[in-house]
Amino acid sequence: MTDEVNFGDELVSPEEKTRRVGAVFSSVARRYDVMNDLMSGGMHRLWKDRFVNRVKPRPGENILDMAGGTGDVAFRMARRGAQVTVSDINADMLEVGKERANARRLTGLSWKVENAETLSFADASFDAYTIVFGIRNVTDIPAALREAHRVLKRGGRFYCMEFSSSDWPGFASIYEAYASRVIPRVGKVVANDEESYRYLVESIRRFPRPEAFRRMIAAAGFVRAAADPMLGGLVTIHSGWKI
Ligand code: SAM
Repeated sequence: MTDEVNFGDELVSPEEKTRRVGAVFSSVARRYDVMNDLMSGGMHRLWKDRFVNRVKPRPGENILDMAGGTGDVAFRMARRGAQVTVSDINADMLEVGKERANARRLTGLSWKVENAETLSFADASFDAYTIVFGIRNVTDIPAALREAHRVLKRGGRFYCMEFSSSDWPGFASIYEAYASRVIPRVGKVVANDEESYRYLVESIRRFPRPEAFRRMIAAAGFVRAAADPMLGGLVTIHSGWKI
């Protein structure tokens, strides 16, 4: 069949992929934050700080944090005074996020279940659109990029952070061994869920290389599409502007 897509290393129908990605994140939602710390050695906090420094949220701006999950990126932007809509296809992830926001007494946040491919927001609603470690899970990535472009105002900024395969000699093979052997085992021990963490690793491996993804951003209508690698290319911040 030609319309099959990858769910990790498996080929499935687009509907089945969306369903299974949903099951992965429902299954990991309660353990998601602790697993992030364990798998990245706490590094994801620094990556997210750096990402938000690039976005430069300003007080009063309307920002859509897509695939916002449990709110890590949205919280950082709300603390700078932005009005942040946290959207995710998975209600369980958003529920954990709301509880965390209440515990921190954060304001300036609203929460909405949305599929990144078919947003319910009006055209030109947001000053910035962010998506962090989310887009590789989306079934139809070009559709999600077109929607990002549609909901941004003129002059709006698009920022995406995603894992990428490292180009550093030596590092790539060490990372590959870590990712394919260690992460699923940690997932098994900590979350009793080896399969979900195996999917997360495979989805990183399958995601387009930074230059290919940069071209997809440009194809969605963004100008000055750029890919800015960090840490020897382990993580890449992509950006673009709507004019
Ligand atoms: N941005 C958060 C962070 O960095 O901590 C969460 C990232 S988490 C790895 C990926 C998120 O993407 C999950 O919460 C998942 O439900 C969401 N997601 C997957 N497919 C999606 C889609 N089509 N539309 C919106 N969210 C989606």
